[in-house]
Amino acid sequence: MKAVAIMFPSREVRVLDVPEPKLHSPTQVKVRTLEVGVCGTDQDILKGHHGEAPRGEDHLILGHECLGEVMEVGAHVQGLKPGDLVVPRVRRPCPHAHCPACRHGHPDFCVTGDYTERGIKGAHGFCSEHFVEDAAYLHKAEDSLRGVAVLTEPLTIAEKGLREVAHIQSRLPWKLSPGKALVLGAGPVAQLGAMALMRAGFDVTVYSRSPKPNEKAAAAEAMGAPYISSKEVTVEALKKQLGGVDVIYEATGASKVAFDSLQVLGENGVLIFTGVPGREEPLELQGDQVMGQLVLGNRVMFGTVNASDGDFREALEDLARFRAKWPGRLEALITQRHPPSEFAKVVEAKGGIKHVISFQEHAR
Ligand code: BGC
Repeated sequence: MKAVAIMFPSREVRVLDVPEPKLHSPTQVKVRTLEVGVCGTDQDILKGHHGEAPRGEDHLILGHECLGEVMEVGAHVQGLKPGDLVVPRVRRPCPHAHCPACRHGHPDFCVTGDYTERGIKGAHGFCSEHFVEDAAYLHKAEDSLRGVAVLTEPLTIAEKGLREVAHIQSRLPWKLSPGKALVLGAGPVAQLGAMALMRAGFDVTVYSRSPKPNEKAAAAEAMGAPYISSKEVTVEALKKQLGGVDVIYEATGASKVAFDSLQVLGENGVLIFTGVPGREEPLELQGDQVMGQLVLGNRVMFGTVNASDGDFREALEDLARFRAKWPGRLEALITQRHPPSEFAKVVEAKGGIKHVISFQEHAR
């Protein structure tokens, strides 16, 4: 079968002919890949900032945001049958007995760093015609989500982040209404984060680089989140306009804008970092000012990566809710579908919002 892989050490992306995967245990499932989303992490892998082949191999099959269709199930698999749509999780636990996170089913909080991630770190991804996965790592998606379920994985970032915010804010027992939120960036993670925040009841503003009009601004405003360009409105002016916000959801991977935005975070507010910086921009930080803002305003900054079983389930439920609340808006985030052979080109693509590799439209 065909698979899109990155070769090591050259980091060249190739379409390879690889052996057809087979079930090796009764709990496994064989899946036909329908769609694979491409994101900034893929770009980092191609640039050499991230990414690792499975041990002893010279290539890594790419792709970690995936929607597939069940082809075959092992004898012990329950709740899945051929034809069902499924979304796989990304991270697999480390082998160490002393890792409390992995041993408690939370490899997203792994403490040893020896986890693997399909399509990213030490385990092949999903950008192949078929793949095999243990049923424990697959989530069934409703048929009605066929056109948008490839967005599940990027939405899980927000699901986990907002779950953590809820834990943190339970320290404010009087705070009954969610309040205001600022989303930094307007790419897919940002747009899905904005939707999740709005659904949770926040009054959301999206703050990103490009001046209006542009398609990301239009997408945000179509769901009711005002869009402001950082080229036109400084952080100081934004603070005057919005007042202090309760939550900032960073989805840019740019440290400067992230730390600058702290000025807009209100008392007792929470700033969530989700971006993995790839640009290596120098950052000048007024350390005393930042520390003062955190301490004197009980502000919290935290980073979040990957997502758990529960976050995937929540994301799939939210996709259905988003479709009902904003008809056509999720579909509109997927601006282009491409054949698998274009993976490397898609990673560099400028413009559009979410680019997706489609196996069904192009591979057969
Ligand atoms: C993926 C996460 C992964 C992270 C770091 C992100 O793009 O969504 O699942 O943990 O990259 O590798």
